[in-house]
Amino acid sequence: MKLEDKVVVITGASSGIGEETALALAREGAKLVLAARREDRLRALAEKIKASGGEAVVFAADLRDASLAEACIEKAVEAFGRIDILVNNAGAMLLSPIDRAEPSDWQSMIEINLLSLMYTSRAALIKMREQGSGHIVNISSVAGRSAGPTAGGYNASKWGVNGFSEALRREAHQDGIRVTVIEPGVVATELTRHIPDEETRTSYEARVGEMEPLESEDIAAAILYAVTQPRRVNVNEILIRPLDQG
Ligand code: NDP
Repeated sequence: MKLEDKVVVITGASSGIGEETALALAREGAKLVLAARREDRLRALAEKIKASGGEAVVFAADLRDASLAEACIEKAVEAFGRIDILVNNAGAMLLSPIDRAEPSDWQSMIEINLLSLMYTSRAALIKMREQGSGHIVNISSVAGRSAGPTAGGYNASKWGVNGFSEALRREAHQDGIRVTVIEPGVVATELTRHIPDEETRTSYEARVGEMEPLESEDIAAAILYAVTQPRRVNVNEILIRPLDQG
């Protein structure tokens, strides 16, 4: 198994990409800290992993809170003695045209997509430096590379992720710490269900209905690839779109 005894924290593990990534990494022997707000779903996932012979603990919290985001990293050290890989995946996509956007939705996206990722990265970096190794995987988006209508707030958060990740990569590499940015296109998950602006949600769903979107397991496979390369290989960025997405 390629990740035997590696300790991995996954944020946003209660559904979609995070859940599939947890299962994929557990199959390779990783010990997991599963973080998100929906404790029942995290517990069910942990049980599933344990039933297959793996190890997983749950950290149920709203990671927009800086102290809880840091505690999530502490949980790994407390449960398993170290942290080898952090997958910053928790996120929200509250699309709407700029003039109809609720400032509270912008705030929420900046807080969960960007700030919480910065808090967990900082806490993990400190631990990984002590260990002399580690890998931080940040889930950005195609929306972190190109911007467009209805995605202003989401674009701002994901461009922020890319900027922060590049700075982090350049600071961390001399300490043996790798940083990878994953930029998915459309993935079939519950992310779209939370789009608050009805017109935007309807037209987004219609666009998705015309294509075969990616599945969460496709992104999990990309993450698994990045974290199982030899130490000399630092996969900086993976951009992955459905074939049908222009
Ligand atoms: P999901 O909605 O299935 O997953 C989002 C996850 O984030 C859930 O586990 C959710 O758990 C968690 N989360 C949201 N808010 C918080 C919070 N405040 N505190 C803790 N956890 C939180 O969608 P995806 O799997 O699609 O999304 C995962 C990542 O992939 C996101 O960063 C998203 O931006 C990115 N992405 C997704 C794409 C897609 O098309 N689906 C495309 C490009 C990028 P809970 O509600 O239990 O807290």
